[in-house]
Amino acid sequence: MPQNPAPSNPVQQARRVERLVAGQATSDGAGVKLTRVLTQDLQRRLDPFLMLDAFGSDRPGDYIAGFPDHPHRGFETITYMIAGRMRHRDSAGNEGLLDDGGVQWMTAGRGVIHSEMPEQEDGVMEGFQLWLNLGAADKMQPPAYRDIPSAALPEWQGDGARVRVIAGASQGVAGAVQRPRTAPIYLDIHLDPDARLAQALPAGHNALVYVYRGALAVVAPAASTEVPRQRMAILANTPGADGVVLHAGAQPTRALLIAGAPLGEPIAQHGPFVMNTREELFQAVQDFQAGRLA
Ligand code: MN
Repeated sequence: MPQNPAPSNPVQQARRVERLVAGQATSDGAGVKLTRVLTQDLQRRLDPFLMLDAFGSDRPGDYIAGFPDHPHRGFETITYMIAGRMRHRDSAGNEGLLDDGGVQWMTAGRGVIHSEMPEQEDGVMEGFQLWLNLGAADKMQPPAYRDIPSAALPEWQGDGARVRVIAGASQGVAGAVQRPRTAPIYLDIHLDPDARLAQALPAGHNALVYVYRGALAVVAPAASTEVPRQRMAILANTPGADGVVLHAGAQPTRALLIAGAPLGEPIAQHGPFVMNTREELFQAVQDFQAGRLA
């Protein structure tokens, strides 16, 4: 794991927080309890991201039913497991076991039917699922699937920070996945108490921070904002800003930093299908019902 050699501060003008969001308690799949942090009303504001779910429970009744066979079309799902074991199977013939610290990056493209089922009967299951939209030209590409086990996830540490780089880059460490159109950045940031981290972000990217342990401040000139646990901070798209500065509180702190270039296209969603127009949604439903998605 590379030790970060006293990084030059990559941020000259830091973004401030525009808004804090608590998310909504809901359930999905066959009754898995979760918090929908990025809800449908924020899809335009946080384009290209369509959804962020946080799940975490030590009560098997909250997760044991899992997510039996269901379809997707038109975007990508990224599942990041903090703790627990989940088995993935899909209609393209892919199968994988996702466990502590691992990532599954699935491109639904023109269509896939998959299941995501717990492989544990008790204990803690905790993690996140992010939906990343595809541009119109990429929505009907063939489905694809990649498991990135925890040990293979690029990361760096130094100055009280450990940064796991799922997508994009941090301090010169390239993430496991790169996407040219939306150039997503997806980081899992662990901070010691009182540690600071400066992360570069392109000015045009929409960006959010979700705190899942401890608490931190988003530090900006004359506008620092405390972000408590289980809150999402939407970062302002301040013209000329080049990044974000995070400062952990008195507890060990962990947060996701997620950013991407907006697609700027119409978003049409019907449940697990996300296309550009209503006609394309009707087509997706018809294709699913006729068995053309698998
Ligand atoms: Mn799914």
